[in-house]
Amino acid sequence: MAATIAEAFDPSAFAATGPPYYLRMLSRRKHWRGSGGDLTLRAKQAVDEVFRNDSGRVSVFRAETAEDVARIAVGLNSTRMNQFEEIELLGFTDHELEKAGLQIQASPGDTRCLHANRLHYDILHDPIGIRRLVDEMIHLDRLDIRYKRSDIQFAHSELASAGCRATTQSLSTCRCEG
Ligand SMILES: [Zn+2]
Repeated sequence: MAATIAEAFDPSAFAATGPPYYLRMLSRRKHWRGSGGDLTLRAKQAVDEVFRNDSGRVSVFRAETAEDVARIAVGLNSTRMNQFEEIELLGFTDHELEKAGLQIQASPGDTRCLHANRLHYDILHDPIGIRRLVDEMIHLDRLDIRYKRSDIQFAHSELASAGCRATTQSLSTCRCEG
């Protein structure tokens, strides 16, 4: 296990350029990586499953630092059944969104970490723009990043010391709020 948050959640792992990075949680890794050689099928699956249209929006988080990534990961897990579940995040940049013609808006997040919530954005869902983004990222061989249970447990214990509400049911406010 990496010894620090800076190593374990280094945001430069997401893309060759940036920060910032916009991060999208995968519900299954194969939704991004595909399960065969057919790139057209893979792209279609990514459009439908990774960038699923949720009332015209696609929820993402904007990260600049390892601390942001750790809070986003722990925050996302605070909304899941198992808060120590491994998590896969796919990252892309401002420039890639812009090139695909996609619009993005700040919107409140619904995790238990107020810092993560302030980093929440929505991509306005546009199937043509989403397909352009997916095609570009497949072209670049962009990979999702997996945080294992041990990474999540490490972040959890660090953030518990910092008073992050995503790590406990007993705090009424999140000290991450600043
Ligand atoms: Zn927090």
